[in-house]
Amino acid sequence: MPVADRTVGSPRVTARREFGEWFTDHMVLLTWTPETGWENRPRVLPFGDLRFSPAMAGLHYGQVVFEGLKTHRRRGGGLGTFRPDAHARRFQRSARRLAMPEMPEELFLAAVDAFVGRDGEALPADDGRLSLYLRPVLFASEPSLALRPARAYTFLLMGFVTGGFFSDHPDPVSVLISREYARAAPGGTGQAKCAGNYAGAFLAQRAATEAGCQQVVWLDPVERQWVEEMGGMNLFFVRGTGPGAAVVTPPLTGTLLPGVTRDSLKTLAARRGYLVTEERISVGQWREECEAGVITETFACGTAAVVTPVGQVRDGEDDWLIGGGKKGPVTMELREALTDVQQGLAPDTWEWVRHHPHPAASQ
Ligand SMILES: *Cc1c(COP(=O)(O)O)cnc(C)c1O
Repeated sequence: MPVADRTVGSPRVTARREFGEWFTDHMVLLTWTPETGWENRPRVLPFGDLRFSPAMAGLHYGQVVFEGLKTHRRRGGGLGTFRPDAHARRFQRSARRLAMPEMPEELFLAAVDAFVGRDGEALPADDGRLSLYLRPVLFASEPSLALRPARAYTFLLMGFVTGGFFSDHPDPVSVLISREYARAAPGGTGQAKCAGNYAGAFLAQRAATEAGCQQVVWLDPVERQWVEEMGGMNLFFVRGTGPGAAVVTPPLTGTLLPGVTRDSLKTLAARRGYLVTEERISVGQWREECEAGVITETFACGTAAVVTPVGQVRDGEDDWLIGGGKKGPVTMELREALTDVQQGLAPDTWEWVRHHPHPAASQ
């Protein structure tokens, strides 16, 4: 796993930590009950342990949904959070799927503002590669084992400084196609960002690692031939080269997670003149088109790792390279187009960035 390589955030923390272990000093908390609904203002507390009943419903029945979004330093000063409104709406859809109360978009945005306003200065000013990863989570906090949706919920928002999940200059990853496990099923929770989806995926990820690959690729759960996602990231394929290249991503069939990065890259690729389509790609097609030089690049995308090239695929005994195993030009161009908008180096044509112009000075 990648580690952050410099001391940021709390001065108490000097050890090298894995992604997601290095939190800033505060967190935001909000609660919901049927009688009172949502608390109307986010509370900012010191980051720290909480007390819960052993009978907390979320722990037993998995009523837990989360989000992941990022705040960046802007070239012109200040901080900007990337598409928090889109994350707020997906958070609502995830909650709805798990019979949990939906948090109003305005309240979600207020929680983001409160957190970034307090801890945004943890983001070093001298290193544009770093970002502040925000982790909102909503869970059933009622102390009851009754088999029904819980009647009390807790929302938390915490964050940490990160340099990107894989690295800043991503090397192509190798992937194993999982023939044994499925991530999602039709009618299931695959399009919700819920905690249980991750628990169900870890074993396949471990199998990929044991096979000498870095990531797992998920196939559709019914026909077991359509390529859906890579780990917790969406996939794109590039056909051809140069300005006439086509950029393809699998359609949202209900078993894929609708990524905000996926959506953003579709828009950016179309804007740059590429033909952007949604199309199912089978494993056989992926291999044949790579070998024929039709598919020239494949990349995965998500908030944490941004855009990551895929260089090599293993499927049982079969093995093939994509674009000679090197990172491709369209992949790197789209990655840069996205990070440029996030960092204020390119115009924010679609008003994706929420500005936090006056973060409080730290402490
Ligand atoms: C979060 C997630 C993604 C990526 O979504 P982004 O909004 O781009 O971060 C893709 N697949 C899965 C399974 C996810 O949980």
